[in-house]
Amino acid sequence: MATYPPSHHASAARLLPEFTPLGGDQRYDVAIVGAGYTSLSAALHLAQLGYKVCVLEAQRVGWGASGRNGGQLGIAMVELQPQLIALYGEQRARQLWDISIDALELFHSLCAEYQIECDFRVGNMACAATPADLNNLLDHVLIVEGYGSHVYTSYDRDSLSNICGSPRYYGAINTNRAGHLNPLKYCLGLAQAAVTAGVTIHEMSPVEKICFGDPLKMICPDGSVTANYGILGCNGYLGKLNKAMAGRILPVENYQAATAVLDDETLSNLINGDMCIWDTSRSVHFFRKTPDGRLTMGCGIGIPGYPPRNLRSECARHLEFVYPQLAGVELDFVWGGNLAGTRSHMPDVGTLAPNLYYAQGYTGHGLALAPMVGKYLAQAIQDESPEFELLAGIPQRRVPGGTALRIPAVLAYRFTTNTLDRLDRSWAK
Ligand SMILES: Cc1cc2nc3c(=O)[nH]c(=O)nc-3n(C[C@H](O)[C@H](O)[C@H](O)COP(=O)(O)OP(=O)(O)OC[C@H]3O[C@@H](n4cnc5c(N)ncnc54)[C@H](O)[C@@H]3O)c2cc1C
Repeated sequence: MATYPPSHHASAARLLPEFTPLGGDQRYDVAIVGAGYTSLSAALHLAQLGYKVCVLEAQRVGWGASGRNGGQLGIAMVELQPQLIALYGEQRARQLWDISIDALELFHSLCAEYQIECDFRVGNMACAATPADLNNLLDHVLIVEGYGSHVYTSYDRDSLSNICGSPRYYGAINTNRAGHLNPLKYCLGLAQAAVTAGVTIHEMSPVEKICFGDPLKMICPDGSVTANYGILGCNGYLGKLNKAMAGRILPVENYQAATAVLDDETLSNLINGDMCIWDTSRSVHFFRKTPDGRLTMGCGIGIPGYPPRNLRSECARHLEFVYPQLAGVELDFVWGGNLAGTRSHMPDVGTLAPNLYYAQGYTGHGLALAPMVGKYLAQAIQDESPEFELLAGIPQRRVPGGTALRIPAVLAYRFTTNTLDRLDRSWAK
């Protein structure tokens, strides 16, 4: 049986008993590949609608990004409203904002309905790594206030220094509509909710082949599922299962660490309050305090499956850049996970055939969005979902070089983000 990566999330979660691998030939209404947020939410909502649903997971529930991520339950899309308006126009940008609000409401309603305890804390603060980034954050706030959404508090550099003990930032915006949590606990809670609703889950059941048709068939090593509908929720772990989908995402590994337990005073000098923080640098640093008194962080990118030999010191370097006062602090946990980026920075959602749906490529922003998209997939299968149509209508382009040039593409991306971040810092001095 596959083990979870050595994350702080896994050490703090009560893991579920193992689900048996798929055996023999089975018949379901819907067969879903992957057991992360996208698939589990789709499964749960389909079961609520009366469908007989089976989830096939290659490893364990939440083994992918959904069990490894930074736990930042964010608001908005990756691109903020000024960029969304420029790209898609006023009306679609507004609809995308509404989706992000609905995604937060879905999180709260799922936790309440299924009593999912995942250490949720209120507050999600975006810190500006450059003066230009601060202007963009403030423009974003003005636009959403124009929608009647007064969800943000803004901070200039001085007022931010009372809240965030990093000298690196020029200001920030915080919202108490969003927050942070233990992502693996949330994912396991979604799995339990799905099982309660009647979903069958098989772990250690990699789908090796999909036979298109009506019905379609998913083939695993020791069995198969024939179903009227299928969903692919494989994200950064898709591999070669579908070449067209794989060509539109760039899977990159993002690194995470958790410090040793720190005393209360040290912690509140880092983040004074319950909120988590993330920054607008291209390397995207993000931090949250855990209930057991640690600071967890996310940083950097690399080639999936090939973590740097010095992963601990790579994380320490990023940590000390943001919080110089933590130089030399012990990192008790380090791990990584694959996220899938798209060129649009928007999720890639659609159909491969009239009865085969997929969603992938949340570009590091799927904690709130992926369960929402899972619900839209369920609604689209049942009848129709205007939100599914909206997301499916967003143009997605192939990543240059497709799957063939992935390693050079990640290395080039890593080099560019590091270099541009360094230039931003030296210009800002
Ligand atoms: C390190 C890291 C930090 C992140 N931080 C944040 C954050 O703070 N906030 C945020 O909003 N988002 C964050 N994200 C992104 C977020 O975690 C993802 O967008 C989200 O979890 C995607 O969920 P998913 O269900 O689509 O995919 P995943 O959770 O990756 O699940 C895909 C599953 O499919 C399975 N699978 C793949 N192929 C097959 C197959 N052939 N057969 C069967 N199963 C298969 C995999 O084993 C995996 O379990 C982060 C991601 C990473 C990796």
